[in-house]
Amino acid sequence: MTSEYKKPLPRPTINPEVSQPFWEGTKKHELWLQYCLNHNGHFFYPREVCPVCLAPQERLVWQQVPAKGRVHSYTTVYQPALPAFAEEAPFIHALIELDAGARIVGNVVGLSREEVEGNALELNQPVEAVFEDVTDEWTLVKWQRVDG
Ligand SMILES: [Zn+2]
Repeated sequence: MTSEYKKPLPRPTINPEVSQPFWEGTKKHELWLQYCLNHNGHFFYPREVCPVCLAPQERLVWQQVPAKGRVHSYTTVYQPALPAFAEEAPFIHALIELDAGARIVGNVVGLSREEVEGNALELNQPVEAVFEDVTDEWTLVKWQRVDG
């Protein structure tokens, strides 16, 4: 953990209580998703209404899910939109298909610069979450390859 973290942090300012269980989970190094009791499926990002069947909040519950998935798609970022991320470039920003069924975006870490620049990350590559405690308040979710 560091107080020197200089990059932008999440700012859940619109109805922050909606995503609070997700961020409480990341602080415990756990992945929590909303589950819809109407259509029996997880979804991400946190919402007040199910994006699949429009079930209201009373029909949504939070569940811890395995912090594992597969790379659905990715892009290599050479020129980040925000200067704060310039020193990390190039890096991989990926769409992860979670084993629980929902999709989540995040950076894939643990790759060499040669692997990043060579597009060595395979689609369908199994990945697991890496929880980075960037400040005392915030833990971010990133992803790393696992054998599969
Ligand atoms: Zn639903």
